[in-house]
Amino acid sequence: MSFKDLKLNKPLLRAVAESGYDNPTLVQEKTIPLVLAKKDVITSAQTGTGKTAAFALPILQMLFDYQDAPKKGKKIKALIISPTRELAIQIGANFKTYGKHTSLKSAVVYGGTSIEPQKDILKKGVDILIATPGRLLDLHKQDLVYLDFVDILVLDEADLMLDMGFIDDVKKIERLCPETKQTLLFSATIPYKVEQLAKTILKDPERIEVTPNASTSKNVNQALYYVPKKNKIELCLHLLRNSIKGQIIIFRRTKFGVEKLEKTLMNNGYLVDSIHGDKPQNDRQKALSDFKRKKVHILIATDVAARGIDIDDLDAVINFDVPNVPETYVHRIGRTARAGNKGVAYSFCATDEKTYVKSIQQLINLQLDVIEDHPYPLDLKAKPIVHKSSTPTSKYRKGRKSEASKKKKKRWY
Ligand code: AMP
Repeated sequence: MSFKDLKLNKPLLRAVAESGYDNPTLVQEKTIPLVLAKKDVITSAQTGTGKTAAFALPILQMLFDYQDAPKKGKKIKALIISPTRELAIQIGANFKTYGKHTSLKSAVVYGGTSIEPQKDILKKGVDILIATPGRLLDLHKQDLVYLDFVDILVLDEADLMLDMGFIDDVKKIERLCPETKQTLLFSATIPYKVEQLAKTILKDPERIEVTPNASTSKNVNQALYYVPKKNKIELCLHLLRNSIKGQIIIFRRTKFGVEKLEKTLMNNGYLVDSIHGDKPQNDRQKALSDFKRKKVHILIATDVAARGIDIDDLDAVINFDVPNVPETYVHRIGRTARAGNKGVAYSFCATDEKTYVKSIQQLINLQLDVIEDHPYPLDLKAKPIVHKSSTPTSKYRKGRKSEASKKKKKRWY
């Protein structure tokens, strides 16, 4: 199938060709016709499948046609909600790319940065608004955003949106839009709570499942290292010195873990930066753009900060901490081996993370390659240390935890 077969108009076909896309991806093939037919859609697709264009292209097409009607002024007609700022920025960039031969205006609003410039942009009027939930509601409260003309609402990364506690905000935003709107929901996985949300806000949706919920790319070598927790940093340095090359993302479960590892790698002479929820937005963006431009080679991130971010040319992913939610593993390693490239995913498993590995292997229906030949092997017969909490805590985290618990609402990602 070609983009022409999808009946996209000329300005979009031109932009798609200039982006170097030859043919639509599977998610685009399945989603675009349904969106153009004004159906509500629930699509299960991971990042890297081309899902942004799957909603951006038909939205631009519909608004372009609408724009041809007598002038109606610039009102927000498409609203895209993203759980994270980075993803919102990325979606905004995609709309600009695909819409560059139209005169449609898009803008991105998100928290953690000054609201004033965003107010100015909104006052001038936009057709398409990409927003994180909190900042959107803030702007709405200040009467700077009118959602009465929204024809299409997109909820991107819905599972993450709910994991981050945005359910009430999302419902509120949905109610602020007209009842007649078309709603598209995208989610990497469709757990029960996403299903429930879909039931309450979508009308007779068409379902699209592009990849099975838990599949991982065949192009990613998935290596598993059993290693004592105390030796993980040494193992990481050993692999960086001897085998891992290129652009690498290292995932850690907590922002404290991210900061600690960042310092160690810096002290060892690596060009490294990090993104986590406590970093000011400007620093997060700079870290991301420096990494994309290869000014730094290692990016350390928490899952929430990094989810949905499109990074090309990623050679390896290191799961410094094994994720305790198995789907998170699939998301993490989905960042490498994109567009047919090869990639490697390294997972470091300490004694108390073995059960997580088991759940991951069950989910992806695959045994990870255990690498025994390394300098810090774990005694696999040793009994696991029993923690009172379900999340393993290192000495370091314990120290910080009492501090964090004083600030009650502090997020950990
Ligand atoms: P996404 O899943 O939306 O994050 O997209 C992942 C990557 O695929 C991005 O770098 C897109 O630019 C790229 N992409 C999207 N659609 C296509 C296509 N039809 N052909 C080639 N690359 C694409």
